[in-house]
Amino acid sequence: MLLDSPGSRLREAELPDPEPAAGQVRVRVEACGVCRTDLHIVDGELTEPKLPLVLGHQIVGVVDAAGDGVELAAGERVGVPWLGWTDGDCRFCRSGRENLCLRARFTGYDLDGGYAELAVADARYCFRLPQDHPALQLAPLLCAGLIGYRSLRLAGDGERLGLYGFGASAHIVAQVARHQGRRLFAFTRAGDTESQELARSLGAEWAGASDEQPPEPLDAAIVFAPVGALVPAALGALDRGGVVVCAGIHMSDIPSFPYELLWEERAVRSVANLTRQDGEELLALAPQVPVRTHVEAFPLAEANEALDRLRSGAIVGAAVLEVS
Ligand SMILES: [Zn+2]
Ligand SMILES: [Zn+2]
Repeated sequence: MLLDSPGSRLREAELPDPEPAAGQVRVRVEACGVCRTDLHIVDGELTEPKLPLVLGHQIVGVVDAAGDGVELAAGERVGVPWLGWTDGDCRFCRSGRENLCLRARFTGYDLDGGYAELAVADARYCFRLPQDHPALQLAPLLCAGLIGYRSLRLAGDGERLGLYGFGASAHIVAQVARHQGRRLFAFTRAGDTESQELARSLGAEWAGASDEQPPEPLDAAIVFAPVGALVPAALGALDRGGVVVCAGIHMSDIPSFPYELLWEERAVRSVANLTRQDGEELLALAPQVPVRTHVEAFPLAEANEALDRLRSGAIVGAAVLEVS
């Protein structure tokens, strides 16, 4: 499924089979998660995609060919995440922050991704995945899970955690946070009772609309929805010393707000991309929780419908394309 230009529908296309270069694997895609970032690319809010582009950066598949110098063997199941390549050499890579690499390339943005039957990926950025777990369930871990996990880590270890926007990422973070013994408060669009019910079923002790105040102040809040107005709203729900983490790659403008909301050592920060260590940690932790993803599946040819439903807020949990 090919994106020719921002603002257009994806188009079914027959492309030549990609050949893995040295250091790369070719993956036969089993499933690929649909991420809000894909919407930002389609809608032109992320302005520099490779074009035409195969979207998709939550790929679960099986290695079917490998270039020279690759340790992964044919038949192994791997996950391909958003971080597709880094230079290993800039000041950020050399200080353990490859997520901030100056020359990073991203899957499904700078590199063709997983809305396809075949994808090639740099083997060094692939994760080994268990064979005995459904691909549909694993796919959302690869971005919703990884970015969510990084956001949770950067939120600190406060006990009372608020999640603004209860979709693919939040429903995974909720399970990890409960496993860590935190208390959970979920905020959704007003009237989204299905997502609020999902939040309660995953251990949220309170779920309500994003303009409501939680029953007690929060130690940390993660904003997953791409809505800048949620930042002052979340700050207003924080206790002293609390932090608001913005987890998305794109957000509408944050409205001005009184300094009083930030006073008493409250903080606002963003989270960008992932490191391979984030991935290794989450994928080791997920079976211990155990994380169970709530998935709505679509055939590859219905990728446009999946994106439409995500845009309108109709997806409960995570949307995933089932490819083979
Ligand atoms: Zn770098
Ligand atoms: Zn993503």
